Amino acid sequence: MDRDNSALALEAMLDLDHPIKTDAADFARSRLTNPGTDAFDADRWAAAAEYGIQGLMIPTEYGGAGKSAVEGALTFEGLGAGCADNGFIFALAAQSFAMQRALITAGNDEQRSRWLTRLAAGTAIGSFAMSEPDAGSDTGAIATTATATDDGFVLDGTKAWVTLAPVADVIVVFATTDPSKGHWGINAFIVETERSGVEIGPVQTKMGINTCPFSEVTFADCAVTTDDLLGNPGAGGAIFTSAVEAERAFLYAAQMGSMERVMNLTIERARSRRAYGQPIGGFQAISHKIADMKLRHESARLLIYKAAELYDRGDGMTMAGALAKLQTSEMAVQSALDAMRVFGAEGYTTDAPVEAELRDAIAGLTYSGTSEIARNLIARMMRVDRPRPKRPAS
Ligand SMILES: Cc1cc2nc3c(=O)[nH]c(=O)nc-3n(C[C@H](O)[C@H](O)[C@H](O)COP(=O)(O)OP(=O)(O)OC[C@H]3O[C@@H](n4cnc5c(N)ncnc54)[C@H](O)[C@@H]3O)c2cc1C
Repeated sequence: MDRDNSALALEAMLDLDHPIKTDAADFARSRLTNPGTDAFDADRWAAAAEYGIQGLMIPTEYGGAGKSAVEGALTFEGLGAGCADNGFIFALAAQSFAMQRALITAGNDEQRSRWLTRLAAGTAIGSFAMSEPDAGSDTGAIATTATATDDGFVLDGTKAWVTLAPVADVIVVFATTDPSKGHWGINAFIVETERSGVEIGPVQTKMGINTCPFSEVTFADCAVTTDDLLGNPGAGGAIFTSAVEAERAFLYAAQMGSMERVMNLTIERARSRRAYGQPIGGFQAISHKIADMKLRHESARLLIYKAAELYDRGDGMTMAGALAKLQTSEMAVQSALDAMRVFGAEGYTTDAPVEAELRDAIAGLTYSGTSEIARNLIARMMRVDRPRPKRPAS
């Protein structure tokens, strides 16, 4: 066990103003604030790469900083706390925690050297494509096929809601060589978006996080070679599960940071808005909402840093990650809704910052797997559907 990292995890849990977090928050405030556009912003992507965000957890031999998951979570907490453009921070986190994880854990040296260095430098953008129009939660039912040829495979099928696809250079894509095998028939490939047979659909409009575009990606008679296969044949399901497990735990660090920003906005409003001759923060109905926001934020933090520390130790963190995802995403929505209530009618207008926070937070209930799927996972791990194990006779 790395004692320095464990000490850092403890510091992260106890110190709400850890310097790694506050430094990232200052950077995000000054360099990543949205200049007022819904379009993907390549200049801010380059600024983030210069600060080291995209390369944060990429090993040093591939141009990254090789930081631990705890440091990654602290940095993303800071980005979420410092920058109100939740879409842009989500885009950075989506690439860092699912796409890059798949490449780091399953890629061979050639694949890593080719892509990780460019991803870390911000000169390439990566996507991760599993979901399909007819298969989201049920990943074993994907219909995109990889048909074996003499020197590789041909990919055919359509992926849906692929984060960053409209601006991506490379995609980790999952396809089945045998639909009857479900999860065990899935293979992972790394494919450039410029390759013949890859078509990126138009940007799909959505409710929030609009500065992070997503779209469909269609593969039509797209030839790939065995050099494009990520990991061993048939390992795609396991690669997906392990990448999403990491994503589930750490991507939400940014949303957890945004909960603190929303809470602080709400405190300011409670202090400055007056009714019946006093600040509205003097009404218990308002102050208790803010106390609940505090509890939600701090409990999400503890779960995220627990998951990050378990991940860094190499211990199982499936349960911790699912709890962290569930708590953060559900509580971020509750807190954004409470913020709207405290802001009154102004909170419902697009002039005030809180309506966008609510629309952005709602996305977290679905990406990286829905809350229902997280609850299924938690309940399955607790074996609540099995009889109590019999005690061995003493
Ligand atoms: C902002 C955003 C970004 C995304 N980015 C990506 C991306 O980059 N790459 C990618 O591959 N996908 C991405 N997705 C897709 C996401 O992974 C899926 O939306 C998610 O897995 C759910 O799939 P679905 O939308 O098809 O819902 P469905 O699977 O159709 O589920 C519909 C409803 O049924 C419930 N349900 C389904 N099965 C069960 C069950 N067994 N038990 C209980 N309830 C169940 C679900 O919880 C949900 O409430 C993104 C989605 C969003 C919103």
